[in-house]
Amino acid sequence: MANRSILVVGGGISGITAAVEAAEAGCQVFLVEKKPYLGGKVTQINEYFPKMCPPNCGLEINFQRIRKNPNITVITLAEVEKISGEAGNFDVSIKIKPRYIDGDYASCEKVAQACTAERPNDFNFGMDKTKAVYFPHLFAFPAKHVVDIDELSEEEKKALAEHEVVNLDEEPKIMNINVGAIIWATGWNPYDIGKLSNYGGGRFENVISNIMMERLASITGPTGGKILRPSDKKEPKKIAFVQCAGSRDEHHMKCCSSVCCMATLKQVNYIREQYPDAEITIYFMDIRAMGKYEDYYQQVVGKDIDMIKGKPSEIKETDNKNLVILSEDQFEQKVTNYEYHLVVLATGMEPSTANDKIPVDFKYDVDGFAVNGSVPGIYAAGCVRKPGDVATSVQDATAAVIKALQSIVVKEVS
Ligand code: SF4
Repeated sequence: MANRSILVVGGGISGITAAVEAAEAGCQVFLVEKKPYLGGKVTQINEYFPKMCPPNCGLEINFQRIRKNPNITVITLAEVEKISGEAGNFDVSIKIKPRYIDGDYASCEKVAQACTAERPNDFNFGMDKTKAVYFPHLFAFPAKHVVDIDELSEEEKKALAEHEVVNLDEEPKIMNINVGAIIWATGWNPYDIGKLSNYGGGRFENVISNIMMERLASITGPTGGKILRPSDKKEPKKIAFVQCAGSRDEHHMKCCSSVCCMATLKQVNYIREQYPDAEITIYFMDIRAMGKYEDYYQQVVGKDIDMIKGKPSEIKETDNKNLVILSEDQFEQKVTNYEYHLVVLATGMEPSTANDKIPVDFKYDVDGFAVNGSVPGIYAAGCVRKPGDVATSVQDATAAVIKALQSIVVKEVS
């Protein structure tokens, strides 16, 4: 008889959905996530479509479903190292990194407060710092602290070792499991703005990515929700968005990420709410506001936005850290070089499999998205398979669960 348990790799919205759906269909589920918490990129977004609400209430409903379901085992700080076998019978080896701290919130927070070492806060894309003993973010699930041991000096390690809840000798563990099917939902990464050297990505402080803008606009972000430019923490009065930054480009990613036009329109609203008189420009090749989002597009561009049709060739930094965008303007048939206080690059979704492949002989497209069908019993789901928004990813994850269940049942009857 085939094994009816399912491994879900990736604890973002697609992985969480797949885990909950499979468990509620009666399967034993192992949900593996490499970060110390579940929720993925969705936790970092300020507001999301279509409801334009903060994502944490929607995630919390899913966390409740996980907490209440004894069929789900959540394994954080973990990565799949090896997979062998076939549909209905996969042997999987999982490496689990230590947290180095285990106790109730109050005891661990006391240790965090006493810790003097700091680390760049990856949750806020390095725009602020946390202590080396830290609670990953306000709504973290599981609600557990973690120690970034690489940031501790020998002296700090000695001081921390005095606390009962800390164990810096903890070693990585290997967990071996056998499952019937695997859903690979490791999601996406924002396209690295450091690769966009002509735009000063990673070099110019006031050139940020759209996902960094989500953190700047969030009340849990580095500026408490006030949109300030990174170099001097001043209010930006002239802001530009550059669409298709690293997407639809043969030198970067070929595909359209499908969500970054809507992300920009949403972020225009973030800015308008805080700075009604800000001058906002969008540089674009096309605006892709699909289906019912056309209304949203019309609403936003009606708010006195400059739309320049053209792909900027270069961004230059001035002495006072302003940015000059060199571009064509196809409407006006001229070359422009306008100056801004802050530039937001509308970067797209790079699949996690562009860099970290599934440890089997799986197929990928030209941008690294996983292509289903090459290994029976293993199904990619969500943004690791194709770029999309939350609703699309949830649908895709549910479809992957059905395929996984079918692969197990087919194995059982054959
Ligand atoms: Fe460009 Fe818009 Fe497609 Fe993103 S969604 S790649 S910004 S056209």
